[in-house]
Amino acid sequence: MPVRVTVVGSYNQDMVWRTARFPVPGETRMGTFTSGPGGKGFNQAIACVRQGVSTHFIGALGDDALARGMRELALAEGLALHCETHAELATGTAAILVEDSGQNLIVVGAGANAALSVAHIESQAAAIRASNVLLTQHEVNVEASLAAQRVARAAGALCLHNPAPPVDARDLQLVDGADLITPNESEFVQLLKLRGIQAPAAEALAWLDEDAFHALCRRLHRGSVAVTLGAQGAFVSHAPEQLRGDAKGRYRCPPERVDAIDTTGAGDAFSGALAAALARAPDAPFADSVRAAGRVAALSTERRGAALAIPRTAEVAQRFDA
Ligand code: ADP
Repeated sequence: MPVRVTVVGSYNQDMVWRTARFPVPGETRMGTFTSGPGGKGFNQAIACVRQGVSTHFIGALGDDALARGMRELALAEGLALHCETHAELATGTAAILVEDSGQNLIVVGAGANAALSVAHIESQAAAIRASNVLLTQHEVNVEASLAAQRVARAAGALCLHNPAPPVDARDLQLVDGADLITPNESEFVQLLKLRGIQAPAAEALAWLDEDAFHALCRRLHRGSVAVTLGAQGAFVSHAPEQLRGDAKGRYRCPPERVDAIDTTGAGDAFSGALAAALARAPDAPFADSVRAAGRVAALSTERRGAALAIPRTAEVAQRFDA
Protein backbone atom coordinates (compact mmCIF):
# COMPACT_ATOMS: atom_id res chain seq x y z
CA MET A 1 0.00 0.00 0.00
CA PRO A 2 1.38 3.46 -0.84
CA VAL A 3 2.06 5.69 2.18
CA ARG A 4 -0.99 7.83 2.55
CA VAL A 5 -2.62 10.20 5.07
CA THR A 6 -6.23 11.41 5.09
CA VAL A 7 -7.05 14.66 6.87
CA VAL A 8 -10.69 15.33 7.72
CA GLY A 9 -11.05 18.97 8.66
CA SER A 10 -11.74 22.62 8.05
CA TYR A 11 -10.78 25.12 5.40
CA ASN A 12 -10.95 28.82 6.33
CA GLN A 13 -9.83 31.81 4.34
CA ASP A 14 -7.83 33.90 6.84
CA MET A 15 -8.45 37.64 6.40
CA VAL A 16 -5.99 39.67 8.43
CA TRP A 17 -6.25 43.39 9.17
CA ARG A 18 -3.31 45.05 10.92
CA THR A 19 -3.91 48.36 12.68
CA ALA A 20 -2.03 50.49 15.23
CA ARG A 21 -4.69 49.85 17.86
CA PHE A 22 -8.04 48.07 17.88
CA PRO A 23 -11.08 50.25 17.11
CA VAL A 24 -13.52 50.66 19.99
CA PRO A 25 -17.20 49.85 19.26
CA GLY A 26 -18.55 52.32 16.69
CA GLU A 27 -15.09 53.53 15.64
CA THR A 28 -13.49 53.09 12.18
CA ARG A 29 -9.72 52.84 11.91
CA MET A 30 -7.39 52.50 8.94
CA GLY A 31 -5.07 49.52 8.57
CA THR A 32 -3.52 47.09 6.09
CA PHE A 33 -5.06 43.87 4.76
CA THR A 34 -3.71 40.47 3.74
CA SER A 35 -5.52 37.23 3.06
CA GLY A 36 -4.39 33.63 2.83
CA PRO A 37 -5.50 30.02 3.17
CA GLY A 38 -5.98 28.59 6.65
CA GLY A 39 -8.22 26.42 8.79
CA LYS A 40 -6.71 23.75 11.00
CA GLY A 41 -7.56 20.85 8.70
CA PHE A 42 -6.20 22.47 5.57
CA ASN A 43 -3.03 23.72 7.31
CA GLN A 44 -2.35 20.22 8.57
CA ALA A 45 -2.98 18.70 5.15
CA ILE A 46 -0.52 21.16 3.58
CA ALA A 47 2.06 20.35 6.27
CA CYS A 48 1.65 16.67 5.48
CA VAL A 49 1.76 16.88 1.66
CA ARG A 50 4.79 19.20 1.86
CA GLN A 51 6.66 16.37 3.61
CA GLY A 52 6.23 14.30 0.46
CA VAL A 53 3.41 12.02 1.63
CA SER A 54 0.32 11.38 -0.50
CA THR A 55 -2.35 13.40 1.32
CA HIS A 56 -6.13 13.35 0.96
CA PHE A 57 -8.28 16.15 2.34
CA ILE A 58 -11.95 15.62 3.17
CA GLY A 59 -13.88 18.79 4.01
CA ALA A 60 -16.78 21.04 3.05
CA LEU A 61 -16.81 24.25 1.02
CA GLY A 62 -19.33 26.78 -0.24
CA ASP A 63 -19.82 27.41 -3.95
CA ASP A 64 -18.00 30.74 -4.08
CA ALA A 65 -14.76 32.45 -5.09
CA LEU A 66 -13.01 31.35 -1.88
CA ALA A 67 -13.78 27.71 -2.64
CA ARG A 68 -12.44 28.08 -6.17
CA GLY A 69 -9.22 29.62 -4.84
CA MET A 70 -8.85 26.77 -2.37
CA ARG A 71 -9.30 24.13 -5.10
CA GLU A 72 -6.63 25.80 -7.27
CA LEU A 73 -4.20 25.92 -4.38
CA ALA A 74 -4.82 22.28 -3.46
CA LEU A 75 -4.14 21.29 -7.07
CA ALA A 76 -0.89 23.26 -7.11
CA GLU A 77 0.21 21.60 -3.84
CA GLY A 78 -0.67 18.09 -5.03
CA LEU A 79 -3.33 17.62 -2.35
CA ALA A 80 -6.10 15.18 -3.29
CA LEU A 81 -9.42 16.90 -2.53
CA HIS A 82 -12.64 15.13 -1.50
CA CYS A 83 -14.77 18.16 -0.64
CA GLU A 84 -18.52 18.38 -0.25
CA THR A 85 -20.13 21.52 -1.72
CA HIS A 86 -22.80 23.39 0.24
CA ALA A 87 -24.06 26.01 -2.21
CA GLU A 88 -26.29 27.64 0.41
CA LEU A 89 -23.38 28.25 2.80
CA ALA A 90 -20.25 30.37 2.61
CA THR A 91 -16.78 28.82 2.58
CA GLY A 92 -15.25 29.14 6.06
CA THR A 93 -13.58 32.43 6.96
CA ALA A 94 -11.60 33.87 9.85
CA ALA A 95 -11.53 37.64 10.40
CA ILE A 96 -8.34 38.44 12.32
CA LEU A 97 -7.50 41.88 13.68
CA VAL A 98 -3.92 42.37 14.85
CA GLU A 99 -2.81 45.57 16.60
CA ASP A 100 0.75 46.83 16.93
CA SER A 101 1.01 45.46 20.47
CA GLY A 102 0.76 41.96 18.88
CA GLN A 103 -2.63 41.15 20.42
CA ASN A 104 -5.31 39.78 18.12
CA LEU A 105 -9.10 39.53 17.91
CA ILE A 106 -10.59 36.72 15.81
CA VAL A 107 -14.08 35.88 14.57
CA VAL A 108 -14.50 32.58 12.69
CA GLY A 109 -17.39 32.09 10.28
CA ALA A 110 -17.48 28.29 10.19
CA GLY A 111 -19.82 28.29 7.16
CA ALA A 112 -19.66 25.01 5.24
CA ASN A 113 -17.19 23.45 7.72
CA ALA A 114 -19.95 23.00 10.29
CA ALA A 115 -22.10 21.19 7.73
CA LEU A 116 -19.61 18.48 6.73
CA SER A 117 -21.90 15.47 6.68
CA VAL A 118 -21.57 11.90 7.88
CA ALA A 119 -22.97 10.82 4.49
CA HIS A 120 -20.08 12.56 2.73
CA ILE A 121 -17.53 10.84 4.98
CA GLU A 122 -19.14 7.51 4.22
CA SER A 123 -19.08 8.23 0.48
CA GLN A 124 -15.33 8.92 0.73
CA ALA A 125 -14.56 5.96 2.99
CA ALA A 126 -12.29 4.35 0.38
CA ALA A 127 -9.75 7.19 0.79
CA ILE A 128 -9.69 6.67 4.56
CA ARG A 129 -9.47 2.89 4.24
CA ALA A 130 -6.49 3.24 1.92
CA SER A 131 -4.65 5.46 4.42
CA ASN A 132 -2.05 4.60 7.04
CA VAL A 133 -3.04 7.58 9.19
CA LEU A 134 -6.26 9.57 9.74
CA LEU A 135 -5.84 13.08 11.14
CA THR A 136 -8.78 14.98 12.69
CA GLN A 137 -9.39 18.21 14.67
CA HIS A 138 -12.40 20.03 16.17
CA GLU A 139 -13.25 22.63 13.51
CA VAL A 140 -15.82 20.60 11.53
CA ASN A 141 -19.03 18.81 12.47
CA VAL A 142 -17.95 16.43 15.23
CA GLU A 143 -20.27 13.66 13.98
CA ALA A 144 -18.43 13.63 10.64
CA SER A 145 -15.04 13.34 12.36
CA LEU A 146 -16.35 10.52 14.54
CA ALA A 147 -17.60 8.71 11.44
CA ALA A 148 -14.14 9.07 9.87
CA GLN A 149 -12.53 7.59 12.99
CA ARG A 150 -14.90 4.61 12.83
CA VAL A 151 -13.90 3.91 9.22
CA ALA A 152 -10.18 4.31 10.01
CA ARG A 153 -10.32 2.08 13.09
CA ALA A 154 -12.13 -0.67 11.21
CA ALA A 155 -9.44 -0.50 8.50
CA GLY A 156 -6.58 -0.58 11.03
CA ALA A 157 -5.32 2.96 10.29
CA LEU A 158 -3.68 5.00 13.04
CA CYS A 159 -6.06 7.69 14.37
CA LEU A 160 -4.18 10.88 15.17
CA HIS A 161 -6.29 13.64 16.70
CA ASN A 162 -5.38 17.27 17.23
CA PRO A 163 -7.94 18.32 19.88
CA ALA A 164 -8.15 21.96 18.83
CA PRO A 165 -10.05 24.00 19.70
CA PRO A 166 -11.77 22.10 22.55
CA VAL A 167 -15.35 23.26 22.68
CA ASP A 168 -17.48 20.93 24.74
CA ALA A 169 -17.66 17.44 26.19
CA ARG A 170 -18.66 15.95 22.80
CA ASP A 171 -15.12 16.61 21.62
CA LEU A 172 -13.89 14.13 24.25
CA GLN A 173 -15.40 11.37 22.11
CA LEU A 174 -12.87 12.21 19.40
CA VAL A 175 -10.08 12.14 21.98
CA ASP A 176 -11.29 8.75 23.17
CA GLY A 177 -11.46 7.42 19.61
CA ALA A 178 -7.84 8.36 18.84
CA ASP A 179 -4.62 6.38 19.24
CA LEU A 180 -2.63 9.52 19.70
CA ILE A 181 -3.45 13.17 20.52
CA THR A 182 -1.50 16.43 20.07
CA PRO A 183 -2.94 19.19 22.27
CA ASN A 184 -1.04 22.41 22.90
CA GLU A 185 -0.65 23.46 26.52
CA SER A 186 -3.91 25.42 26.83
CA GLU A 187 -5.89 22.72 25.01
CA PHE A 188 -4.38 20.11 27.34
CA VAL A 189 -5.58 22.05 30.37
CA GLN A 190 -9.04 22.66 28.86
CA LEU A 191 -9.45 18.95 28.06
CA LEU A 192 -8.49 17.98 31.61
CA LYS A 193 -11.14 20.38 32.90
CA LEU A 194 -13.75 18.95 30.50
CA ARG A 195 -12.98 15.57 32.07
CA GLY A 196 -13.40 17.09 35.54
CA ILE A 197 -9.71 16.61 36.39
CA GLN A 198 -7.97 19.31 38.41
CA ALA A 199 -5.43 20.96 36.11
CA PRO A 200 -2.40 23.20 36.65
CA ALA A 201 -2.14 26.55 34.83
CA ALA A 202 -1.15 26.13 31.17
CA GLU A 203 1.96 28.29 31.73
CA ALA A 204 3.15 25.91 34.46
CA LEU A 205 3.28 22.84 32.18
CA ALA A 206 6.65 23.64 30.60
CA TRP A 207 8.30 23.29 34.03
CA LEU A 208 6.07 20.61 35.50
CA ASP A 209 7.79 17.59 37.01
CA GLU A 210 7.86 14.76 34.40
CA ASP A 211 6.10 12.25 36.66
CA ALA A 212 3.27 14.68 37.38
CA PHE A 213 2.93 15.60 33.68
CA HIS A 214 2.88 11.93 32.69
CA ALA A 215 0.23 11.16 35.32
CA LEU A 216 -2.03 13.92 33.95
CA CYS A 217 -1.58 12.59 30.38
CA ARG A 218 -2.48 9.09 31.53
CA ARG A 219 -5.69 10.37 33.14
CA LEU A 220 -6.61 12.32 30.00
CA HIS A 221 -6.05 9.70 27.31
CA ARG A 222 -5.60 5.93 27.03
CA GLY A 223 -3.11 6.25 24.11
CA SER A 224 -0.07 8.38 23.39
CA VAL A 225 -0.08 12.12 24.11
CA ALA A 226 2.30 14.68 22.59
CA VAL A 227 1.71 18.05 24.26
CA THR A 228 3.20 20.91 22.26
CA LEU A 229 4.78 23.60 24.45
CA GLY A 230 5.58 26.34 21.90
CA ALA A 231 9.17 27.57 22.29
CA GLN A 232 9.68 24.94 25.02
CA GLY A 233 9.29 22.02 22.57
CA ALA A 234 6.97 19.14 23.49
CA PHE A 235 6.26 16.49 26.10
CA VAL A 236 5.48 12.88 25.15
CA SER A 237 3.62 10.35 27.29
CA HIS A 238 2.83 6.77 26.23
CA ALA A 239 0.62 4.09 27.70
CA PRO A 240 2.91 1.50 29.37
CA GLU A 241 1.78 -1.24 26.95
CA GLN A 242 2.35 0.84 23.79
CA LEU A 243 5.66 2.75 23.71
CA ARG A 244 5.65 3.15 19.90
CA GLY A 245 9.28 2.17 19.49
CA ASP A 246 10.51 4.50 22.24
CA ALA A 247 12.79 3.39 25.08
CA LYS A 248 10.97 5.58 27.61
CA GLY A 249 7.28 6.03 28.42
CA ARG A 250 7.64 9.77 28.94
CA TYR A 251 10.13 12.45 27.96
CA ARG A 252 10.55 16.07 26.97
CA CYS A 253 11.52 16.96 23.37
CA PRO A 254 13.79 20.01 23.23
CA PRO A 255 12.81 22.79 20.79
CA GLU A 256 14.79 23.63 17.68
CA ARG A 257 16.58 26.99 17.68
CA VAL A 258 14.85 29.35 15.24
CA ASP A 259 14.19 33.08 14.86
CA ALA A 260 10.42 32.99 15.35
CA ILE A 261 8.45 35.95 13.99
CA ASP A 262 4.94 34.44 13.69
CA THR A 263 3.84 31.28 15.50
CA THR A 264 0.41 31.14 13.77
CA GLY A 265 -0.24 27.58 12.67
CA ALA A 266 2.85 26.10 14.39
CA GLY A 267 0.64 23.50 16.05
CA ASP A 268 -0.93 22.64 12.69
CA ALA A 269 2.50 22.26 11.11
CA PHE A 270 3.44 19.93 13.97
CA SER A 271 0.35 17.68 13.68
CA GLY A 272 0.46 17.48 9.88
CA ALA A 273 4.19 16.72 9.81
CA LEU A 274 3.77 14.16 12.60
CA ALA A 275 1.09 12.38 10.56
CA ALA A 276 3.47 12.31 7.59
CA ALA A 277 6.36 10.94 9.65
CA LEU A 278 4.20 8.24 11.29
CA ALA A 279 2.75 7.18 7.94
CA ARG A 280 6.17 6.96 6.35
CA ALA A 281 7.99 5.18 9.17
CA PRO A 282 5.43 3.55 11.49
CA ASP A 283 8.05 1.33 13.12
CA ALA A 284 10.64 4.05 13.77
CA PRO A 285 10.97 5.32 17.36
CA PHE A 286 8.16 7.80 18.01
CA ALA A 287 10.77 10.27 19.27
CA ASP A 288 12.18 10.48 15.72
CA SER A 289 8.75 11.38 14.32
CA VAL A 290 8.24 14.01 17.01
CA ARG A 291 11.67 15.50 16.27
CA ALA A 292 10.81 15.68 12.54
CA ALA A 293 7.46 17.35 13.32
CA GLY A 294 9.12 19.82 15.68
CA ARG A 295 11.56 20.83 12.95
CA VAL A 296 8.78 21.54 10.44
CA ALA A 297 6.81 23.48 13.07
CA ALA A 298 9.81 25.48 14.27
CA LEU A 299 10.79 26.50 10.76
CA SER A 300 7.20 27.56 10.00
CA THR A 301 7.50 30.26 12.69
CA GLU A 302 10.19 32.07 10.71
CA ARG A 303 7.57 33.10 8.08
CA ARG A 304 4.29 34.98 8.39
CA GLY A 305 1.00 33.22 7.68
CA ALA A 306 -0.53 29.80 8.25
CA ALA A 307 -0.61 27.12 5.52
CA LEU A 308 1.81 28.84 3.15
CA ALA A 309 4.42 29.37 5.90
CA ILE A 310 4.91 25.61 6.31
CA PRO A 311 8.25 24.38 4.90
CA ARG A 312 8.83 21.43 2.59
CA THR A 313 11.03 18.44 3.49
CA ALA A 314 14.00 19.71 1.47
CA GLU A 315 14.00 23.09 3.26
CA VAL A 316 13.80 21.36 6.63
CA ALA A 317 16.67 19.01 5.77
CA GLN A 318 18.79 21.88 4.47
CA ARG A 319 18.29 23.82 7.67
CA PHE A 320 18.70 21.10 10.29
CA ASP A 321 20.67 18.21 8.71
CA ALA A 322 23.61 20.31 7.52
P1 ADP B 1 0.01 25.97 18.76
O1 ADP B 1 0.23 26.67 17.48
O2 ADP B 1 -1.08 24.93 18.69
O3 ADP B 1 -0.14 26.86 19.96
P2 ADP B 1 2.69 25.43 19.76
O4 ADP B 1 2.85 26.91 19.94
O5 ADP B 1 2.79 24.58 20.97
O6 ADP B 1 1.33 25.07 19.00
O7 ADP B 1 3.81 24.98 18.69
C1 ADP B 1 3.82 23.67 18.12
C2 ADP B 1 5.26 23.24 17.98
O8 ADP B 1 5.96 24.17 17.18
C3 ADP B 1 6.07 23.17 19.29
O9 ADP B 1 5.90 21.91 19.93
C4 ADP B 1 7.49 23.37 18.78
O10 ADP B 1 7.98 22.13 18.28
C5 ADP B 1 7.30 24.31 17.60
N1 ADP B 1 7.50 25.72 17.99
C6 ADP B 1 6.54 26.66 18.21
N2 ADP B 1 7.10 27.85 18.56
C7 ADP B 1 8.45 27.65 18.55
C8 ADP B 1 9.58 28.48 18.81
N3 ADP B 1 9.44 29.78 19.15
N4 ADP B 1 10.82 27.92 18.71
C9 ADP B 1 10.97 26.63 18.37
N5 ADP B 1 9.94 25.79 18.11
C10 ADP B 1 8.69 26.29 18.19
